[in-house]
Amino acid sequence: MYKTLTCLLVLLIILKLQTAHAQSTNPPERCGFKPKSHSEEFEKWMQAKKQLQKHQRNTSNNSIYRIPVVVHIIHDGEDEGKGLNLSDETIKTLIKNVNDDFRRKSGTRGHNTHPSGVDTQIEFHLAQISPEGLPTTGIRRIDYNKLLDSLGREGIEGYRTAGYWNPEQYFNIWFSRFSRGFLGRAEFPETDLPGIPQPTEKIEEDGIFINSTYFMEGEEGPYGLGRTLTHEIGHFLGLLHVWGIKSNCENDDYCDDTPLVSGPHGSCSGSTPLACNGEPAMIENYMDYSDDACMNIFTKDQMVRMRTVLEHSPRRKTLTTSPGLIRSDIGANTVKTYPNPALETLNVEFGLNVLGLSHEWILYNLQGQIIQRFTFVAKHQMVFNLPLVASKVLILKIQGPALNTTQKIMIGN
Ligand SMILES: [Zn+2]
Repeated sequence: MYKTLTCLLVLLIILKLQTAHAQSTNPPERCGFKPKSHSEEFEKWMQAKKQLQKHQRNTSNNSIYRIPVVVHIIHDGEDEGKGLNLSDETIKTLIKNVNDDFRRKSGTRGHNTHPSGVDTQIEFHLAQISPEGLPTTGIRRIDYNKLLDSLGREGIEGYRTAGYWNPEQYFNIWFSRFSRGFLGRAEFPETDLPGIPQPTEKIEEDGIFINSTYFMEGEEGPYGLGRTLTHEIGHFLGLLHVWGIKSNCENDDYCDDTPLVSGPHGSCSGSTPLACNGEPAMIENYMDYSDDACMNIFTKDQMVRMRTVLEHSPRRKTLTTSPGLIRSDIGANTVKTYPNPALETLNVEFGLNVLGLSHEWILYNLQGQIIQRFTFVAKHQMVFNLPLVASKVLILKIQGPALNTTQKIMIGN
């Protein structure tokens, strides 16, 4: 009897300790965004650019921006799809969810009926063309253990080691482990103001960092839906947290349609907390710290900030015209040549299916004589030198395994 009681007592103590442990486990800090990345100069610059746009009535305001993404998965040598080596499917699902959120797509979790909620008309697509002009999946896999010049295993050091693609043409997203518990971290955009850090700085960190551990196989929980990406991309495009720089009611996020709050909210359960002015806080905003499941709003003012950054900020505005994505006017098995007439050089853009393949270039005059002939490997965007000839018209033949085209090239002004 005494022994049984002792066992029960020990069991009760163990259970009590476990409960205490569960209660003391703090949720991870959602975001490693540092307010010092942001500045008053940035806000003055933002105001000036928004005013400029109102005056110019820029027609591009309605266009859909398509941003090429390169994902760098830094893993520990696991097989693809295991542990930190997230599968292609997981990455594609996360990118889809981001687009559902940014486009407020109906029938998805990103849809809302809030009067301030908008479709930002910004999309993110895995890159189709690598910096070398060749086809790519837009996903790089880096075995940390095989890196020679490793600066450190985790966090910023980890992704510096893993490398990047030119951030003027690609939006870099690094997935890795982050021991300090952050779900993600973003680099804030720069201005082109004199005296402010210029975009040559921090080039190797310009993008967002995502903690992979929340997306590994079998992982479920409040952060598994990928809203960390939506939130960090918001910072990358110039958004602040809904409570501004400091947690008090004196500081704003410079968006009039997100009610001012004193600090982050971390859960969707219970009654809706109040904003500083007494109205309900917008805990559904992607720039709060709420659980993934209850976030689904970008507001109009937030959209304007992000689009202003994409239209004017160095290393952001070039993303919208990047050669990392094939434009819709080039067929997969076709070429596009320009200008016409040409002078000394001819630009040639090749469709996706013929990239990396060997092709023959033959240039004839109108008498049928060959005046230039060579072979080359097709890349997405190429420039060819034209020979000096008296002819005003030349015939260009490009042929390869999946392409056979003949075009008339005009020479001169
Ligand atoms: Zn944040």
